[in-house]
Amino acid sequence: MAESMMGLKRTHRCAELGSANIGETVTVMGWVQKNRNKGGIIFVDLRDRSGILQLIFEGTEESGLMEKAAKLRSEFVIAAVGTVEKRSGAVNPNLATGEIEVRVKELRILSEAETPPFPIEENSKTKEELRLKYRYLDLRRPDLQRNLILRSHVATLTRQFLAEEGFLEIETPTLIKSTPEGARDYLVPSRVHPGSFYALPQSPQIFKQLLMCSGYDRYFQLARCYRDEDLRADRQPEFTQIDMELSFVDAEDVMDVNERLMARLFKDILNVEIPLPMPRMTWQEAMDRYGSDKPDIRFGMELVDVTEVVKDCEFVVFRNAIQEGGSVRGINAKGQGAMPRKKIDKLVEFAKGNGAKGLAYIAIAEDGTVKSSFAKFMKEEENAALIQAMGGEKGDLLLFAADKNKIVWGVLGALRLELAKQMDLLDKNEYKFLWITEFPLFEWSEEENRYMAMHHPFTMPMEEDIPYLDTDLGRVRAKAYDIVLNGNEIGGGSVRIFQDDVQEKMFECLGFTKEEAHERFGFLLEAFKYGVPPHAGLAYGLDRLVMLMAKEDSIRDVIAFPKVKDASCLMSEAPGLVEEKQLEELGISIREAEEKAE
Ligand code: ASP
Repeated sequence: MAESMMGLKRTHRCAELGSANIGETVTVMGWVQKNRNKGGIIFVDLRDRSGILQLIFEGTEESGLMEKAAKLRSEFVIAAVGTVEKRSGAVNPNLATGEIEVRVKELRILSEAETPPFPIEENSKTKEELRLKYRYLDLRRPDLQRNLILRSHVATLTRQFLAEEGFLEIETPTLIKSTPEGARDYLVPSRVHPGSFYALPQSPQIFKQLLMCSGYDRYFQLARCYRDEDLRADRQPEFTQIDMELSFVDAEDVMDVNERLMARLFKDILNVEIPLPMPRMTWQEAMDRYGSDKPDIRFGMELVDVTEVVKDCEFVVFRNAIQEGGSVRGINAKGQGAMPRKKIDKLVEFAKGNGAKGLAYIAIAEDGTVKSSFAKFMKEEENAALIQAMGGEKGDLLLFAADKNKIVWGVLGALRLELAKQMDLLDKNEYKFLWITEFPLFEWSEEENRYMAMHHPFTMPMEEDIPYLDTDLGRVRAKAYDIVLNGNEIGGGSVRIFQDDVQEKMFECLGFTKEEAHERFGFLLEAFKYGVPPHAGLAYGLDRLVMLMAKEDSIRDVIAFPKVKDASCLMSEAPGLVEEKQLEELGISIREAEEKAE
């Protein structure tokens, strides 16, 4: 039976106690981690969010204390009053409280517990599905507790830093008009306006721009955003942004304040110095050198364009790619020249999985023998020139892709990362930041057969490229920037269009008729008529940033109650069916699922 806490007040968290407290009477409360009954002496490890503390129960039969202590099982919630003493047994150097124990005089069992479906311990081996079903238990584990504490520190420090920099924290609505920004909206039906829907925001983009129109100057928000995308393994349907917008600034100002924000977070939370200014690279350079717009620059293995070197060779794969306007590029996996054929075949499969038709290679053994998948189609001097262009030396493995640029970049960019993993080149303790600038404004969508905004429709084109808005959309660069950390895009933003004519032009380029643009974004275009400051902004994916700071591999490990790949919550079983009455009120009827043909 549960006892009351009445008359007791917790004096310390478990791991707040140390040798300095020896002799003090303390009251601690928490969960039983384990209970060791040595007959006459009982040791209990007590756990709370700060850590673990050893309690010792000994003697005094008449009080019933020993009997009660013997009843304690894992995850019981207890309160204990006792004296801090130097450990009677061996000191535990792995525990913050390893030199002490609390000799208990009074014990109360506040809540009993059934045996949990998995042990509450660090580095759980339990399947993630089970952990997520019992997330409230999973969240008791020290590694998740550390992650959420880290996340809280990031949020607090961000608020503090931005406030010091003159930002105001302003909330924007989450029931808004559907103004798609690229992804699919989550919709919420309106009861009062049957047949009408709110959308959940994909980001506060338009509202933060309107706040600039209203003169708030520097805004930020830790904003929940929703995107109903086809789910990839490490995406969440709802996620959190550190979102900001600034007036009377250009890209430089945004980058400056954000570099300092990152440096502050990493210094104060991880004690890691981030050298400033952060390096910058244009999108074009990033693609050419790393095959990615979010390059991991913790290691080299850069792409080399060998189109010129092989342009006259007889190898049809290379020749065709070049003739069709594509390129031939390679990477040099240093020291991998002895890679067994089977492993190379796996790399070929990997490349195919990333869109390549194939992957050509040259393996140079330590003794200088060269094995090549295409040497027979090449003249000897062509082969030699190719190896030289790649900086190929004894022991190297050279890998080549030939296709349209976009495919070649994608394939080699992914391969470069895969090899880095295999070669153990990625150190989670190393943090390499980088800005990517001058993104293309538009991106061709094969699916939609039209140009789409690469960032979003409010991004300002680079002045010198504005004439191409009428002639060659693919050539227009944007005043957009992404902040990249260890190969992850952790944030992105842009200088915004603040002239209504340029904004209208942009909508036109994206294929909206005037009416459609006004129907969807009329209030923004209208606002631009009444005095609008030049403005720019940026938003971080907070989950991903915290994931990297916590050295985790999944954002689920830094979100208290995450959803899984199909956007459901394994614990609460959301989404769920609702009462017929609720649907009626909303004027909604559910169509019977059409029977699928077998
Ligand atoms: N709203 C943008 C996004 O969610 C960020 C920005 O441009 O500030 O990607």
